[in-house]
Amino acid sequence: MENTPTPTHCPYCALQCGMNITPLPQGGVEVTERADFPVNRGALCGKGRTAAEVLSPAVRLTAPLVREGGRLVEAGWPEALDRIAERLGATRERYGADALGVFGGGGLTNEKAYALGKFARVVLGTSQIDYNGRFCMSSAAAAGTKAFGLDRGLPFPLEDVPRTGCVILVGSNPAETMPPSLRFFTELRENGGTLIVVDPRRTRTAEQADLHLAPRPGTDLALALGLLHLVVAEGRTDEEYIRERTTGWEEARAAAMAHWPEYVERITGVPVPQLREAVRMFCEPTAAMVLTARGPEQQSKGTDTVGAWINLCLATGRAGRPFSGYGCLTGQGNGQGGREHGQKADQLPGYRKLDDPAARRHVAGVWGVDPDSLPGPGRSAYELLDALGTDVRALLLMGSNPVVSAPRAAHIERRLRSLDFLAVADVVLSETAELADVVLPVTQWAEETGTTTSLEGRVLLRRRAVAPPPGVRSDLYVLHELAGRLGVEKGFPADPEEVFEELRRASAGGPADYSGITYRRLAEENGVFWPCPEGPGGPGGTGAADGEGTVPDALPDGPAADPGATADVPPAHLTAAAGTTAAGTPAGARPLPGTPVAGSGPAAVHPGTPRLFLGRFATPDGRARFVPVVHRATAEEPDAEYPLLLTTGRVVSQYQSGAQTRRVAELNAAAPGPFVELHPRLAARLGAADGDRVAVVSRRGRAVAPARITAAIRPDTVFMPFHWPGEGRANTLTNPALDPTSRMPEFKSCAVRVEVLGPA
Ligand code: SF4
Repeated sequence: MENTPTPTHCPYCALQCGMNITPLPQGGVEVTERADFPVNRGALCGKGRTAAEVLSPAVRLTAPLVREGGRLVEAGWPEALDRIAERLGATRERYGADALGVFGGGGLTNEKAYALGKFARVVLGTSQIDYNGRFCMSSAAAAGTKAFGLDRGLPFPLEDVPRTGCVILVGSNPAETMPPSLRFFTELRENGGTLIVVDPRRTRTAEQADLHLAPRPGTDLALALGLLHLVVAEGRTDEEYIRERTTGWEEARAAAMAHWPEYVERITGVPVPQLREAVRMFCEPTAAMVLTARGPEQQSKGTDTVGAWINLCLATGRAGRPFSGYGCLTGQGNGQGGREHGQKADQLPGYRKLDDPAARRHVAGVWGVDPDSLPGPGRSAYELLDALGTDVRALLLMGSNPVVSAPRAAHIERRLRSLDFLAVADVVLSETAELADVVLPVTQWAEETGTTTSLEGRVLLRRRAVAPPPGVRSDLYVLHELAGRLGVEKGFPADPEEVFEELRRASAGGPADYSGITYRRLAEENGVFWPCPEGPGGPGGTGAADGEGTVPDALPDGPAADPGATADVPPAHLTAAAGTTAAGTPAGARPLPGTPVAGSGPAAVHPGTPRLFLGRFATPDGRARFVPVVHRATAEEPDAEYPLLLTTGRVVSQYQSGAQTRRVAELNAAAPGPFVELHPRLAARLGAADGDRVAVVSRRGRAVAPARITAAIRPDTVFMPFHWPGEGRANTLTNPALDPTSRMPEFKSCAVRVEVLGPA
């Protein structure tokens, strides 16, 4: 490799910040920020800045491991792959194809997610595949699909945030989870807009808000209903918009009117004057947004909760209008793409439904198989993990660490241990890999080319910048080799671009249409927003985008890659009326950096779709659907034995299960272990001092960590971050009660008690 910078993207969260990687003459690489990527504009958080440390052979796997005599010992690749193929084949022979499970991850590239789903269904013939993204944002995906006919995390670019009038940020803490994004909210306020943060904790993000609402965990649904009640009572609905662009308002309105503000105050603990102030701030500007993250989503009623926030947007005429609407801040690096290409239990590539006969025919045609040979939908992530060792006897796992990240984690660890056979492909020896019969060391971000799709729906190219250590292979190579050993010689190339070319065809005409996207375009254009059908107009297929499924030709000309290209567009709340062009583009908006103009010459291509729904929604009639929802309690309310609520979350210096970031010295020093946040009044009642070891106990287990006493948490609630294994593993406590639609577990709320163990 030459010592020149290779532009690529961060391996961690869904912001996918742009960075350069430069191999150093003395070995190793240097990571530097990229100013030309409009999402981070030259900023990186500590995780991104130190990402190269995980490339070091000192902290990662460099040879396959197989279990011999109870211990993992080094082996050659042929032996390790032979063993996996033999055990998967034997299990299928004995118990049937559905005894084989496959578990993927939201960090896998689009190519890997695609190949993994195809491998499960075509090579193994199993329906039992799902991935850890089910734990992440599936409730938002389900609610978005119900309301708009399509789920794309953000239906507009982050660059629209500073130009709206008010943002309600629900259960999201970007100051810790994706710090460079905080700039958009700071700019919003500098432009005269306002920020409302809904969070049981006074987080670093909440500290910057104009208004902080701190509901009891698990009551966001009631909060949204209370706000909608006030919107109606104060005559702030947008009747023309409701009439022209939505259906189902009367039922949703009736449901909201049953939630009087005083009733909502009793449920949530949020005072009525704060509810009224939030409504005023949200309704007065001409444009406003609601953005949700894991807080309202990781609940046993997460789909309804997100639906209630969407209803608020619809009743006030926000969704599908310039600089306005509802969006979900997806968490994992490829959380968006990971849910589009077939590693979900119920989906085929292109965000198609597995139980849709036309979708099955299309994808089977691309795969060269009989549609009837494709299995139907399988178990969701928690249900799949819960079936290990019983119905599911052997598991192939890629890019996930459920021993730390799954709810009721001690139980899931036992289920993993009870398997007949476990194979794990990972970069490091994670806590889950430690349990495996075979561990395969695989390449990572800087060592391989592949695409991800950011929280904005922007498809990005990660480029190979350095060679992996000898002994390490890619996940695609693993699937290629296993497919061959299991009798499928063709259809599983190890080359990522070849996989992407097939993914394009498989996604063509689907909701998430990538058919107009190529590696070359991604490299030249700094990313492309889906849907992007092939050709200038393309077949579309969803009606998802503004007007005709395309970004219209009428976009005014502008520089193709200027990070500041949109900076002079006035904030929507400062304009008399934020309108759209005839073709549905926000008035005054220039093309986003890197967005080509469609139809501008003989080689014209579809430009991609930065903004969805401006002309119509992706429903059959083009209208958004209100979904009537009512408040209900969390699956586990406090009682005499477990009188407190636990909520879990993240810290800035760790990422997800911490498998990578716990191996980075600087991050580990900044966040060395778990802690339990206690309000001073609760601490006084318990007799706990700051730093005391405390045990948090739920019906599922016990986790021990030092107390951190802070007035930032509600007195009836305790908080633990979930990045660590061992005695401080927060997910030992969490409740796997599932949302009936999304099958999302209730990470954000369960009943606990706290026992003080004494000084550390
Ligand atoms: Fe990476 Fe996310 Fe940090 Fe950006 S905010 S550098 S994408 S971890």
